[in-house]
Amino acid sequence: MSLIDNHLAIFDPVTDLDLAERYLTDWPRDTQGKARVILRPRTAEEVADIVRICASAAIPIVPQGGHTGLVAGAVPSADGTEVVVSLERLNRIREVDAANFSMTVEAGCILANLHAVAAEHERLFPLSLGAQGSCQIGGNVATNAGGINVLRYGMTRNLVLGIEAVLPDGQIWNGLRKLHKNNTGYDLKQLFIGSEGTLGIVTAVSLRLFPKPTQVETAFLAVENAAAAVALYGLARRDLSDLLSAFELIGHFGLELAQEATPDLRHPLESKSSHYVLMEASASGLVDLAALMQRFLEGAIEAGHVLDGTVAANSTQAGALWRIREDLVEGQARRGRHLRTDVSVPISDIASFLAKTDAALAATEPRAIPVAYGHIGDGNLHYNVLPPAGMAEDDKPAFLKRCEQVVYAALPEFGGSISAEHGIGRAKRDSYLKGLAPAEKALTEGMKRVFDPQGIMSPGRLFEA
Ligand SMILES: Cc1cc2nc3c(=O)[nH]c(=O)nc-3n(C[C@H](O)[C@H](O)[C@H](O)COP(=O)(O)OP(=O)(O)OC[C@H]3O[C@@H](n4cnc5c(N)ncnc54)[C@H](O)[C@@H]3O)c2cc1C
Repeated sequence: MSLIDNHLAIFDPVTDLDLAERYLTDWPRDTQGKARVILRPRTAEEVADIVRICASAAIPIVPQGGHTGLVAGAVPSADGTEVVVSLERLNRIREVDAANFSMTVEAGCILANLHAVAAEHERLFPLSLGAQGSCQIGGNVATNAGGINVLRYGMTRNLVLGIEAVLPDGQIWNGLRKLHKNNTGYDLKQLFIGSEGTLGIVTAVSLRLFPKPTQVETAFLAVENAAAAVALYGLARRDLSDLLSAFELIGHFGLELAQEATPDLRHPLESKSSHYVLMEASASGLVDLAALMQRFLEGAIEAGHVLDGTVAANSTQAGALWRIREDLVEGQARRGRHLRTDVSVPISDIASFLAKTDAALAATEPRAIPVAYGHIGDGNLHYNVLPPAGMAEDDKPAFLKRCEQVVYAALPEFGGSISAEHGIGRAKRDSYLKGLAPAEKALTEGMKRVFDPQGIMSPGRLFEA
């Protein structure tokens, strides 16, 4: 054991091989890594000590949250050189300031636990995603996570008031302000949001809170096609008085996949349609939300945008509708290795993008099985592809890469993005770097050099190693 490893050993490394396994792979289990050592510090000061020791010998580090990321960012590299720093033990709530509509929490707090803490104070922390029972707020910040409520509350970027981070030389930067307005020079915290562990390790965050909704209306609606869903979205934004909080497109095949994962999940409508919308509006205060929803639905049916539908009568029914959206992700995972994308286009181009990509995929890879769904209000689509049944495991990576190229090829025409929310990691690095304009690339690389001149933070993610 080297002197450096002796120094790191005081931070209670994970030595149990069975336990270590879960730090070496991610949720989809597509990528497997090896670590020099896995450490689980308890304080920001311990994180700083670890980073200082690693920096003294230029040892690469990868921070790890709940390992639910979908772009192979948190998994250590296969060569076993990286030190994994898990933030799971930094899980204290430092402060809830309900009057300021803010709370300050450590990076390892599980997202669903933060929802509960906010609710205890009659507040809402609106970031909401399928992985919320496992992902950590530090990981959400590092990936600038999106989820289902972005159309109303914005991405994680809009929800962060301040950050505490350990820089790649081991200094602790305390940017933990809880101000709603602060217009003093460069907004450094924003650089950490979405930086995927490449600029430093986030150890705590101040978060923006909102009034806790006291009324929620959830509806599952059949629509004729994606164009009808987009038209319906426009109507909902107008009629629901900006109280719309989620608007998801789900194809019929997506519903079947959800039922594969959860056989007791029933189709909420009598009739089958090719496309459905799962939408939610929420409000606190004196608004009569149920009446607003009813008027909106009457108008939507009259305009021909809705073919059939149901409105949840209570939170149990609403939960059952949301399970369709959540379990369709699990249903895809059960089909094995597949292509996951999270592209975005302007909302007005969603239907054209889908039609064009469906046609291009059918022409070039006719055996591909597309599963397209997503956050209509953000123009964010998960245009995923399953390989055909029976395809040999060894053939899948190349097949799915070709499918990915077809999906990405349609984006430039619409000014689209290859990543609306999952980030770049290692999985999308080459496509991301190829798409950067020269000036953008120079600024991005320059920024990395300023923060991390030795290149020890998460090498190979976003940038080439
Ligand atoms: C079922 C399912 C549904 C999902 N739905 C969504 C969705 O709707 N929207 C969405 O945006 N994403 C979604 N995701 C992706 C994922 O949940 C998010 O990217 C999440 O923010 C990752 O958090 P994590 O704690 O698991 O991070 P990890 O996976 O552990 O890490 C992700 C990246 O952040 C870095 N990192 C982690 N913690 C820190 C830290 N404290 N400081 C610095 N860097 C750090 C890692 O090095 C890595 O690069 C989903 C994933 C699953 C499995």
